[in-house]
Amino acid sequence: MKIIMLGAPGAGKGTQAKQIADKYNIPHISTGDIFRANMKAGTELGKKAKGYIDHGLLVPDELTVDLVIDRVAENDCLNGYVLDGFPRTIPQAECLDQALSLKGEKIDYAINIEVPDEDIVNRMSGRRACPSCGATYHIVHIPTKVEGVCNRCGSKLVLRDDDKPETVKRRLDVYHKQTKPLIDYYENKKVLMVVDGTQDMERVFNTIVKILGA
Ligand code: ADP
Ligand code: ADP
Ligand code: ZN
Repeated sequence: MKIIMLGAPGAGKGTQAKQIADKYNIPHISTGDIFRANMKAGTELGKKAKGYIDHGLLVPDELTVDLVIDRVAENDCLNGYVLDGFPRTIPQAECLDQALSLKGEKIDYAINIEVPDEDIVNRMSGRRACPSCGATYHIVHIPTKVEGVCNRCGSKLVLRDDDKPETVKRRLDVYHKQTKPLIDYYENKKVLMVVDGTQDMERVFNTIVKILGA
């Protein structure tokens, strides 16, 4: 099962993608996580990506596409995967489709998590992430048992640099201009599924499971 998560920054793509990956036993591939890991490790890619990410802009397609196409060609992806944060532009989607069609494959579901812009800034300012295990929380909606400490691994949680309100506004603009057209793109391919992302986390997940099947 090959799945793409669509939706504005903060819509809940990562939160849902992790649960989908667990339930269906497929890898969760987040380009944001890959870039952040590279930034932390100080790799060439990380250095190049940082300037864009810190400004709320997309990392150029040339730095992004091959990375994902190589990743989905790895062995653990044979039974499928859930892509979170990729594609984010029409050219990225076209490159992915081309690479898949060479192998006679295609994306099965593009799940669009709909959340109005008004809710996004609140979601992002309350987002806290675990730098060690990648878990994500929300100070109000999805709190940890001990404030500021990861439930899973006990590490101290952080606020992402690009979750500052000014940067969030830029990311939302970028989303509307560059990423939203993917909704029509996948609708035309007849794989688009729309989910109301304003429901609580469990409800959103149950809706997704109904689409994907138990
Ligand atoms: P969010 O979870 O808020 O949607 P991500 O963690 O997916 O954010 O991405 C963080 C940043 O990494 C993006 O704002 C963008 O700069 C960069 N990025 C992630 N995926 C892509 C992509 N497919 N193409 C270009 N830039 C990307
Ligand atoms: P994305 O990957 O789309 O950027 P995340 O999954 O990181 O989004 O979620 C953004 C923030 O909103 C996080 O703080 C997360 O804990 C919180 N969140 C996710 N799903 C919900 C939900 N259904 N209701 C309220 N808050 C949510
Ligand atoms: Zn953790």
